[in-house]
Amino acid sequence: LPTPDLVALDDTDVAALLPEPGPADSKYTRGVLGLVGGSDRYPGAAVLATGGALRGGAGYLRVVAEARAAEHVRGAHPETVVTVIEPGDAEAMLAAGRVQAWAFGPGVVPDAAARRLLDALIGTDVPLLLDAGALDPFAEAFAAGFPAEPGAAAGRDVLARRGAPVVLTPHEGEFARLTATALGWDAAETRRELADDRLGTARRAAAALGATLLLKGNRTLIVDQDGAARVNTTGTPWLGSAGTGDVLTGLTGSLLAAGLGALDAASVAAYLHGMAGQLAPRPLSAADLPATLPAAIAHVLAGAAG
Ligand code: AMP
Ligand code: MG
Repeated sequence: LPTPDLVALDDTDVAALLPEPGPADSKYTRGVLGLVGGSDRYPGAAVLATGGALRGGAGYLRVVAEARAAEHVRGAHPETVVTVIEPGDAEAMLAAGRVQAWAFGPGVVPDAAARRLLDALIGTDVPLLLDAGALDPFAEAFAAGFPAEPGAAAGRDVLARRGAPVVLTPHEGEFARLTATALGWDAAETRRELADDRLGTARRAAAALGATLLLKGNRTLIVDQDGAARVNTTGTPWLGSAGTGDVLTGLTGSLLAAGLGALDAASVAAYLHGMAGQLAPRPLSAADLPATLPAAIAHVLAGAAG
């Protein structure tokens, strides 16, 4: 089979993919996102991811967080429904009903409690986005076999048999660690390969993992396990600022919940996130991004129309 081309979306492509509610829609049909994140150490990451999710257009956002992060989220975003859980309480997490996509990781400390939540989320049958503190537990589970699948099947098989896609959103450092733990790649070599052939390296990883990868950085790449690949053309180095990735997680999760496929959800999110970065005040602070997303969407729609 020939390798698919590398595609760059433009305003028209993104406008066509953006979900728009119809007269028969309700908050439930527009997509329910379960966002799991934050910790005592990093409560702010949950707030930023929530902001991105709310401006991503899903109808209903359920935030699942430990007490301190939950309090921050409620204070900043009163429109969210927050479930407070004890560390690692997967049952309480999954009790959040009607969830159509899960996003897990911003502000999460990658410990045994995070691993329990990860194992439970892998066992669900809806799209699952993993970022930040969820990536190490994912990589460990991938290498060791997931309990969701008795018989400790190889991680690749578990993902292949899973009813819905897994989307991983590492920056380059996280990518090197993820592929080292999950696939046994040498991290230093991976960093060299990324510098040499970023697209080829991302494609190899996505194929070996059986997941969609969004590899962050200047010119973010989005690739899936079949080799389909997109490069993001929006953005600015001002996005190199703590917390901007957390906003992208919420935004991508929101689009997954609204029903976009993994590759489209990740590409549209990267595009809008980059556009928001271009339009945000300078110096950019991550909290500006959710506030700027409506203007970014308006800019894209105007670009598509004209
Ligand atoms: P994270 O590393 O998780 O905080 O995510 C950082 C976000 O900022 C990602 O969306 C990156 O693509 C973006 N970003 C970081 N540095 C740059 C850069 N030099 N140019 C464009 N985007 C960047
Ligand atoms: Mg990050």
